[in-house]
Amino acid sequence: MQFGSFDLSIIRECVFKLDGGAMFGVVPKTLWSKQSPSDDQNRVVLACNLLLIDTGSKKILVETGMGDRWSEKEKERFGLKSLVTPGTMLDQVGLKPADIDFVIISHLHFDHAGGATIMRDGKIVPSFPNAKYVVQKGEWDFAFVANARARASYRPDDFVPLQEAGQLILVEGDYEVVPGVWVKVTGGHTSHHQVVYFESNGEKGVYFADIIPTKTHLPPPWVMGYDHHPLISCDIKSEWLARASAEKWLVVFDHEAGIPWGKVLVEGNKYDFAPLPESSLDFTLSQAKGQGKALSSVG
Ligand SMILES: [Zn+2]
Repeated sequence: MQFGSFDLSIIRECVFKLDGGAMFGVVPKTLWSKQSPSDDQNRVVLACNLLLIDTGSKKILVETGMGDRWSEKEKERFGLKSLVTPGTMLDQVGLKPADIDFVIISHLHFDHAGGATIMRDGKIVPSFPNAKYVVQKGEWDFAFVANARARASYRPDDFVPLQEAGQLILVEGDYEVVPGVWVKVTGGHTSHHQVVYFESNGEKGVYFADIIPTKTHLPPPWVMGYDHHPLISCDIKSEWLARASAEKWLVVFDHEAGIPWGKVLVEGNKYDFAPLPESSLDFTLSQAKGQGKALSSVG
């Protein structure tokens, strides 16, 4: 999709399921289940939506999804249906892993960093051989010292090989990755969680990552139970959504299983989302349910 002088694409890497209670924190099920119905194990359907930003001179991939290093048992637990592998995820946009210049990872949880690395000839190596991976230094440091509650979300094999290969850029705070594309630290979900803000020819957009994972999470108090600092998430959402609404930004939701991008409208305590048409996507939602043929063989 054209966005100023940039070309944007959503890559749906997988669909998966997580406990609805954990996804909506203190919000009662009677409220969230109307918008996000749960299965017989109380799980809600999510997706990993990666954003590809092609500025004309650089190609930036935002997030890497779950990747393909999962056992059958784990796949079952997460209801995980991979739609592509790290090696094939760019097929639908006519690119190869070697074409990517930068990979931005919002935080190092496995559903964001899992596809950053791939098993090749018995060794785990970066999935994108020519890319620099942009990670917050605070998030990196925390991943190695996380306590018992936080630790389960970090798998060192997702990110340690990036450093070993010399492909890691550790940044501290807000940082302009290429002209018009910034990472901005929000905290909230994790202490050093970052979103991606981008601008081209007067158009503005934001990839909210896990600050607003789905359209159902738009109201600021609807914060995930997973968040390390839920009160910060709530404030950050109010702040960013007010600007996004006033300036008509494109907003992108990382885990929305429906159409994951569009515009938000904030009026008082009311938060509305107007998705872009399905034709703005390089895939159809019926393919993305993971039941049909793999996305990599489409178009
Ligand atoms: Zn996530």
